[in-house]
Amino acid sequence: MMKTAVFPGSFDPIHNGHLEIVQRMLPLFDKIIIAIGINPDKKYLFSLEQRLNWLEQVFNNEPKISITSYHGLTAEFCKQQQAQYMIRGLRNSNDFEFEKAIAQMNKKLGGIETVFVISSPEHAPLSSTILRDIIINGGSVADLVPVKIAIKTNNK
Ligand code: ADP
Repeated sequence: MMKTAVFPGSFDPIHNGHLEIVQRMLPLFDKIIIAIGINPDKKYLFSLEQRLNWLEQVFNNEPKISITSYHGLTAEFCKQQQAQYMIRGLRNSNDFEFEKAIAQMNKKLGGIETVFVISSPEHAPLSSTILRDIIINGGSVADLVPVKIAIKTNNK
């Protein structure tokens, strides 16, 4: 049976912490679906099209990876895709507390097994929220995002 995992997120924008998680998980799965969850109540800095485009640029050489977006419950999306696993990154104990209940519910409701990956110390401080703050204020995020993408900031 094909081992398929969904790596869900907003990727607003993608950064090196996300990239590391995907690279470390690739040997474990036959297929990884990187999926942007669309939440109508959430305000994004970058358009869905732009975020999908960056993901495609970063992973275009990797045949095991596909890129898409979805509405609604992530567990439902996993079932539609016949994915038995979900991948989530953990940076700290706050991430763990937040993710724990979600993973337990996804297992109970959808039978989805969540695989947690502890980020490396180098990438633990990285979050899309911090990156957006840097971008909005004109700082450079060049060292924090995959080399294949260029994010323009207000001043640079
Ligand atoms: P979400 O809005 O679902 O948290 P994100 O795009 O912020 O989406 O993150 C997607 C996934 O990547 C989540 O599992 C998150 O925990 C993980 N992640 C984010 N930043 C890092 C990081 N620096 N190291 C490891 N995992 C991370």
